[in-house]
Amino acid sequence: MRIAGQISIDDIPKICPLLSRTANPQYGEHGTRVVNVAGVRFGGERPVVIGGPCAVESHAQTVGLAHAVKRAGADMLRGGAYKPRTSPHDFQGSGLEGLCILSIARAETGLPIVTEVMDPRMVAEVAEVADMLQVGSRNMHNYSLLAEVGRARKPILLKRGMSASLCEWLGAAEYIAKQGNIDIVLCERGIRGFPSGEYSRYVLDLNVIPAAKMLTFLPVVVDPSHATGVSAMVEPASRAALEMGSDGLLIEVADLTLGEPKCDGLQAIDAATLARIVLFAHEKRGVRSQESEARRKPSPLQV
Ligand code: PEP
Ligand code: MN
Repeated sequence: MRIAGQISIDDIPKICPLLSRTANPQYGEHGTRVVNVAGVRFGGERPVVIGGPCAVESHAQTVGLAHAVKRAGADMLRGGAYKPRTSPHDFQGSGLEGLCILSIARAETGLPIVTEVMDPRMVAEVAEVADMLQVGSRNMHNYSLLAEVGRARKPILLKRGMSASLCEWLGAAEYIAKQGNIDIVLCERGIRGFPSGEYSRYVLDLNVIPAAKMLTFLPVVVDPSHATGVSAMVEPASRAALEMGSDGLLIEVADLTLGEPKCDGLQAIDAATLARIVLFAHEKRGVRSQESEARRKPSPLQV
């Protein structure tokens, strides 16, 4: 039976001619496009680790955490100045002041910044400060926002919609690419499914990492913080994601001595845990170069 609107991964070259692996044979079977964010290379020789608060709350909180993230050895700073919250009565982020704080944090630490933009009308303003624009899970289907960030000429971190199929996620990336911007990093952040919400926030879909890499040449990273919602699960989930081939991690960090964060405190890890994750990620460097070396050599079966 044929159903209107039904798509499968066989349709990906048609849905995503700009981003599919088969429509872009220059990337070969395993090649990843390196997305360079102010010198940080996603899809390069080692995984990228991004750490920082869920939301930018104050100068002391964010700049303090930026220094801790830097000392832990991470590559980039995250932090939302604009927050998509379930209730409109909850803290919505500190807006322009938050963007200013992020640029101070970058000036002090040298860490490039990724921050979320939620509204097409705000893209230019956020892009003035951000080194990388984040499109959040709730906005992955917002096609006018996707087109606008595609025109912003900044690398994009595109989170997977919490109920999005792989085809829908790649289709969303194609909207950005259609504007001429293929500096896109895909971010798996957990999907809704049975039994999300009982013992973890979402279901971390590790299988999607190799699946996405088979279909596209874009780098893929994982956000273990929103996927699990439980700080004790973040470190093992990070290791698992790296084992499955993730090109990096996006992790929420908090300094609990400053008090409870305004959002997502239960999933935030401390800087010492982040440092252990960074060490693990850096060990993957050797593994990766051995893997790509092995791919370059013809296998005994091919000789
Ligand atoms: C975030 O990373 O700040 C965030 C809100 O995540 P998500 O869009 O995945 O819910
Ligand atoms: Mn958060």
